[in-house]
Amino acid sequence: MSYRLLSSNIINTEWSAILKLQNFPNSNHIPNFFLLNRVWCCSNNYNNLEMEDLDPTKLIVINDQRSLDRKISAIRNDGPSKLQVIADFDATLTRYWVNGLRGQSSHGLLKQGNPEYDAKRQALFEYYHPLEFSPAIPLEEKTKLMEEWWGKTHGLLIEGGLTYDAIKSSVANSNIAFRDGVVELFELLEEKDVPVLIFSAGLADIIEEVLRQKVHRYFKNIKIVSNQMVFDDSGRLVSFKGKLIHSLNKNEHALDMATPLHDQTGGIDSAVADNASVKQRTNVLLLGDHTGDLGMSDGLNYENRISVGFLNDNIEKNLESYRKAFDIVYLTHVGSGGSCSRAVFKV
Ligand SMILES: [Mg+2]
Repeated sequence: MSYRLLSSNIINTEWSAILKLQNFPNSNHIPNFFLLNRVWCCSNNYNNLEMEDLDPTKLIVINDQRSLDRKISAIRNDGPSKLQVIADFDATLTRYWVNGLRGQSSHGLLKQGNPEYDAKRQALFEYYHPLEFSPAIPLEEKTKLMEEWWGKTHGLLIEGGLTYDAIKSSVANSNIAFRDGVVELFELLEEKDVPVLIFSAGLADIIEEVLRQKVHRYFKNIKIVSNQMVFDDSGRLVSFKGKLIHSLNKNEHALDMATPLHDQTGGIDSAVADNASVKQRTNVLLLGDHTGDLGMSDGLNYENRISVGFLNDNIEKNLESYRKAFDIVYLTHVGSGGSCSRAVFKV
């Protein structure tokens, strides 16, 4: 048997054991974690993963509870001034399922107001997306294919005359939503001056618009590392800034590509534009939905990193690799996009 049921009832310490920064105790007391119906952790002989033990009520898998306890304790003792959060956007901060349907990604929701070009981008998706996940293609070759895909897609967005107004209406009409608890998490982190880096191979301008429309407020502690568009005075896309970020190079850019969120008036809060101070924060909470997302903290000389992986699809096939890769694996089940995240993001 690989797992141990810690409690069949709600455990009272919740995710805020990590994030309850206002009460950082200077003790070695290790609390129970997570506000969940069930928390499962592995014993030392976890190699025989028993898939039949998985059912929709089991939401979290912890590979090494002691290691996690140590990290949580160290992070709590160091306090909020040493902490930063690095999060993937699509299917991590946003729900994998929205109203019973697959939630849209920041790339996927975009309708550029030109059906011909929407169809061309969809054709690219249908060609390249299977290649992205093909186990038969070596990484180097796959990386080139991804550069090709992203490059062509960006080219079509420019050629097809994308406007910022089209982004606004695309977001307004999209099937995208944040997981429950994300906004409360952002608020708590902002209150404690903990920076949040949203790292995405999608489009920064769309992520900003999603935040504007779905959260209705601006967070001074949030920066976005993603592909940034440049618009002309008439609001028409003319180019992209900086180096391309695709799904396989999210580790190469890190803070150097980070830009603060624009506020409602288009201004930038210079107080958060200091990358050097972020690099001093050597405790990291990393949130992602692919094992490749672990690379988001590459380049940071961190002391403690707690990684949370959201396993949204092909759970049985992927659990073993996720369990080994992440400190905490959160299982998303169909229709549970809200409730499961409520547990992880509970603050
Ligand atoms: Mg993602």
